[in-house]
Amino acid sequence: MQNIRNFVIIAHIDHGKSTLADRLLEVTKTVETRRMRAQYLDQLDLERERGITIKMTPVRMSYTLHDTRYTLNLIDTPGHSDFSYEVSRALNAVEGAILLVDATKGIQAQTLSNLRNAQKAGLKIVGAVNKIDVKGVHPEKTILALAELLNTDPESIFKVSGKTGEGVEDLLKEVIRVVPAPKSELKTGIGRALIFDSLYDEHKGILAYVRIIDGEFSAQELTDLIATKTQCRIKEVGSFMPQIQPVQKLSAGEIGYIATGFKEPSLVRIGDTVLNSGSSEIKNKYEYALPGYRDATPTVFISFYPDGNTKFEDLERAFSKLRLTDAALFLEPDANEALGRGMKVGLLGQLHFEITSARLSREFGLEFLTSFPSIAYKVKVDGVTKIIKEPHAFPDKADEIWEPMIDIEILVPQTYLQKVLSIQSTYVIDIAEIHNVGDNLLITGKMPLAELIRDFDDQLKSVSAGYASFSYELSGEKKTDAERLDILVMEEVVPALTRIVRKSDVTGDHINYGQEK
Ligand code: GDP
Ligand code: MG
Repeated sequence: MQNIRNFVIIAHIDHGKSTLADRLLEVTKTVETRRMRAQYLDQLDLERERGITIKMTPVRMSYTLHDTRYTLNLIDTPGHSDFSYEVSRALNAVEGAILLVDATKGIQAQTLSNLRNAQKAGLKIVGAVNKIDVKGVHPEKTILALAELLNTDPESIFKVSGKTGEGVEDLLKEVIRVVPAPKSELKTGIGRALIFDSLYDEHKGILAYVRIIDGEFSAQELTDLIATKTQCRIKEVGSFMPQIQPVQKLSAGEIGYIATGFKEPSLVRIGDTVLNSGSSEIKNKYEYALPGYRDATPTVFISFYPDGNTKFEDLERAFSKLRLTDAALFLEPDANEALGRGMKVGLLGQLHFEITSARLSREFGLEFLTSFPSIAYKVKVDGVTKIIKEPHAFPDKADEIWEPMIDIEILVPQTYLQKVLSIQSTYVIDIAEIHNVGDNLLITGKMPLAELIRDFDDQLKSVSAGYASFSYELSGEKKTDAERLDILVMEEVVPALTRIVRKSDVTGDHINYGQEK
């Protein structure tokens, strides 16, 4: 265990995580240069095409420093807020993080939220400024800002280029030097592994991507999945080389996969604990659950209906296939008179929706229509509380209604502050604070989730010429005055067009979300 280093690269989206990972694969000779292609770890077609990381991709590398051979496990994470729970589990699977900041863009909102999460997970953080090869870039300002953020000297911030490879090997050496070796907590012979992602394999069933926290795991052992209360006879354990490769056993400190043989993705949940009791009798298995598990909660619901040459069955089949590589998709059949049978899909957010739509058309060649995005409301009618996910099921009269809220952080250069604040005339956003972070202003506040899914991302980009960035996290719920808005066509309600809207948006009154009504 002494010679293992587990780490992640965290950054705002597009700051160069995957490209830096490519260079690390080369420096460590994990992938031969002639086989190298850009964003090597982004294996999905769409990831490569759109240049975004959707899956968490772990890779095992080796590197010799001062005559010692180190095993380095790197997890390339998606940077976007939609995937923050998944990323938080990956952060718990490692001891260190490279915090990467694009020198041409400086610190952005998800730099801050990712850093905070890494600190929460107790990681050792190494700061690096990327893209120093870009002509005319002056990384000094970004270096100062990052040093201040990390509470360290500017000299300890690394200057790298994922493109040319400059500075990358030195950064890797620093990771080996400062990131602590993993430690095991239990000394009892009991095995525990944290699941931080999963993937379907034709032959081996669902692979649980795991960090072994304690003990050992090998094929044929009978283990428990604690959250789903299922047992699994391990088919195989292995490492990411980066392609999967079986090994004899996985031991404490290591990152690899456990092949469960399961066909059903919902049995293998991110954040769950795989428990290997070995020869011990364990009465209460829950006591061994690793902290931080949460049920996957879709936040946005969108119905997909077949269109053109696509049949409902095609759509259904495509979604069940997609779910094998994306366990966060929540699927339910849906139907309405105008559009026929469809699928109601629960997603993690706007980006997750865009990715899913793009995969349906690209990977499956499907044509489809989608409903307005909606969210889940908690509604109390005649003393009974229900969760309503479909706008058309929203009751006419309710005693009380709650909607999900988010905490939002917007990072914006001074010059765009007024423009960004003007967005308050279109979106209900309750601003709590504005303060300086380096050269930028950080606006923090609360906002209904319903507002976020009304194109907030595009609006914010457009008022700030692309300079503002934001991150968010779900944060409880709040009473609201939402109502169902039916649209009638020739005097008939068209359920697919039904939306839930704020009463005040219909009547023109303005309510202040800063105060409890
Ligand atoms: P990620 O979203 O953080 O994984 O970012 P990517 O690695 O996909 O990089 C985003 C974009 O920046 C891509 O177009 C890369 O080619 C580009 N890029 C990444 N690193 C560098 C670099 O060091 N220099 C330059 N010039 N471009 C880079
Ligand atoms: Mg990436």
